[in-house]
Amino acid sequence: MKHALARNKLVLSVTLLFSIVAAAAGVLIAIILQKVIDAALQGNMQLFQRILFLSAVYLLGLCLVSFVYSLCSKVLIRNVTISVRERLFRGVLHKRTAEFKAANTADYLSALTNDIKLIEENALQPLLSTFQNAIIFTASLLVLLSISPLITLVLVIGMVLMFLVPSLFGKLLQSRLNAVSVQMSRFTAYAKDLLAGFEVIRSFGLKKQTEQGFQHANRTAANVRFTADRLFAANESISEALAMLSQFSVMFVAAYLIITGNLSAGSLVALVQLSGGLVGPVLVIMQNIPRITSVKPILERFEALAGESKASSDAQQQEPTIFKQSLEVRQLQFAYQQEQPVLRDIHFTFEKGKKYALLGPSGCGKSTFIKLLSGYYDDYKGSISVDGREVSRQDHESLLQLTSIIHQNVYLFDSDIKHNICLGEEFPEPVLESALRGSSLYAYVQHLGEGLSTAVGENGTLLSGGQRQRVAVARALIRSKPVLILDEATSAVDNRAAHEIESSLLAMPDLTLITITHNINDELLEQYDEILYMEDGRIAEAGSFRELLEREDAFGRFAQRTETVSRPQLVNG
Ligand code: ADP
Repeated sequence: MKHALARNKLVLSVTLLFSIVAAAAGVLIAIILQKVIDAALQGNMQLFQRILFLSAVYLLGLCLVSFVYSLCSKVLIRNVTISVRERLFRGVLHKRTAEFKAANTADYLSALTNDIKLIEENALQPLLSTFQNAIIFTASLLVLLSISPLITLVLVIGMVLMFLVPSLFGKLLQSRLNAVSVQMSRFTAYAKDLLAGFEVIRSFGLKKQTEQGFQHANRTAANVRFTADRLFAANESISEALAMLSQFSVMFVAAYLIITGNLSAGSLVALVQLSGGLVGPVLVIMQNIPRITSVKPILERFEALAGESKASSDAQQQEPTIFKQSLEVRQLQFAYQQEQPVLRDIHFTFEKGKKYALLGPSGCGKSTFIKLLSGYYDDYKGSISVDGREVSRQDHESLLQLTSIIHQNVYLFDSDIKHNICLGEEFPEPVLESALRGSSLYAYVQHLGEGLSTAVGENGTLLSGGQRQRVAVARALIRSKPVLILDEATSAVDNRAAHEIESSLLAMPDLTLITITHNINDELLEQYDEILYMEDGRIAEAGSFRELLEREDAFGRFAQRTETVSRPQLVNG
């Protein structure tokens, strides 16, 4: 939040200035009251008329200043909210994929919505009100001292008592409010999960259980909030009781001073007014302080989510990577959890323009290998080099610039086909057309009444699996990145479509293609320059499809096993 306030220094300064003027002007009312009552009791009509005129001017001024202050504070809150939200979103965008996935998307959503609201209500507004009340307090204290030091002393003693209350509540409120934030984040994640699983819930008749689950989550979230509110209520009512006590004390001391002839009636009214200006602000400040401190853990969580990845900020200063000859992997080792290596000692050179198929039993490390090639993780051992230049571990951007990766599950934005291919960037017509042809999407788009402007629906639900896959291929081709990785990308597509897409990619001379597949399709695999067969985190065999089959070694056995398993399906299908 400090960044956001620093970025809005001007609005902040104007707001604070008007806050001071409005607060000081508010205190003036006590002096006007004192003068008007004393003038009335003295029967001084001339003085009364003068005060009446000045009061009218004063009221107009006060009204104007309060309005400007209120407007400025709202502008400040709007600007700070915008800055905080944008900083968080920018931080999220700069994260590496692995860093991003370390938190649930619901955490980000919750931070962008619930947490920002909590910060506004419990930090921004209370900070402004604390500042203004501190000014009211100081001005009231000065005027009070000038009227009666004795009464000022009574008031100050009352207030010291009030100071003690929030210190009793502060820490507890902090942990309760943090619990509210955590619970809201859990609730959002749970609700998001249920909505995303709508079809599963409907088709398996899980409406009743789901409703019960939702009810439980909803009530838990509301109850956690109530537990915090209960504490807020106790804090507020104890503070208010103490405030009343000190006001009572002042009334009795003042009455005594009037009886003994040491105080005028006008001064008494001014004192009552001023004691409100002294006690009220302390009350507000005491309620605000625990609120403000309670936001600390939320702000820390925010920093953790928004914190920019060092890797990406370093990478922006580096030269873009150009791939001319080869992508080399040397002694590559990687483990998700220590002591359990998923990749062991991988050596391989991918040459520009060649086509590679990566096969192996499930869990042997194929996806992990290509994740490392596309800059997903940097905590590997060994090296990845492009044209002999080692890619620095922090510079994952350079690998991202080099590779496009298409997964089995493609995400499509709720827009039209063109937007999902271009993703908001401008491309010349011929480039777009060649991407459409390369992804075998051209003929399909030609048939559509609205062509490229056809809507795809939420996450592409209006398209078939194959069409979604082709959009993803076009999305990758249009950016003409030199390396294209298909991670079982065509497994959701029927054989003919898969064949069509892969064949057109295999025919692109400059494209380096790495395809993870579990499909032993002789006709397609023969078109690959090299087959990499992985087993247990290693490249067990590499060579052309025919070579590997003739060798009848690890890949031969794998191919036989896979064919035996898939043959009955082919017959049935
Ligand atoms: P493949 O693509 O060959 O099926 P993966 O590379 O997905 O294999 O997985 C290799 C091994 O790493 C598996 O044992 C898998 O359970 C493990 N693994 C994959 N992703 C993660 C992850 N994010 N965290 C921990 N272990 C993982």
